[in-house]
Amino acid sequence: MGEEKIPWGRRLTFGAVAIVLGSVTIFLVISFLYASLNKSADHANSQKCASSNLQSIGIASIMYSNDNNGSFPHGVALKADNDEVAVSKIYRSFISHKYLDNPESFICPNSKGRCSPIRPTQEIYDNPKLWHWGPWKKTAKAQPPGLKDPPLSKNTELSYTWRRKALKAKTARSTKVLACCKEPHVYMGGVNVLFADAHIEFIYYSDPRYDTLTKQLVGAPKNPLDE
Ligand SMILES: [Zn+2]
Repeated sequence: MGEEKIPWGRRLTFGAVAIVLGSVTIFLVISFLYASLNKSADHANSQKCASSNLQSIGIASIMYSNDNNGSFPHGVALKADNDEVAVSKIYRSFISHKYLDNPESFICPNSKGRCSPIRPTQEIYDNPKLWHWGPWKKTAKAQPPGLKDPPLSKNTELSYTWRRKALKAKTARSTKVLACCKEPHVYMGGVNVLFADAHIEFIYYSDPRYDTLTKQLVGAPKNPLDE
């Protein structure tokens, strides 16, 4: 950090050099500790993200597809509606059809505190369609009194993306289904990705497959290496 550049002149005493060297050393040690703390926290989050969240969503997806001629849930609204809302609807269908019982599964541990999980009520379980699609105009009359559609927002309910194109029975099982998006694992240098056969991989930013993520998944993070 430039201690070599300090002129070893007449006036500079040994004491001053010692102070500078000491400060630089302390600064480096603190920076190193800070970085490694962040990295180990991110590592733990990334493991939890993959082993509890993505695994649960993967199993739920497979169960759903087994019951639905091989198709995975997909937002009809991905084109008509806004993407983020459609992704919320996909995740809601897992919960309301009871393929998944823990709404926390949609929140990467890196996004804790920024996202709050879906909280379905019994009313919602009794009327999942309305919950998915909301009281849209034509069917507004069918809305039972008291059922309020909670706000649909990726920002408050979930932190994962979803594949833009529908996943059908013929879709290759090597297809990427979703990835961490809200708070990618930047210290680890990549994101967790769930594939259609329910296996999970950590894809590094330097992996050529990372770039296809941004095209295939809704709201996928941009490659930080590009910026
Ligand atoms: Zn994650």
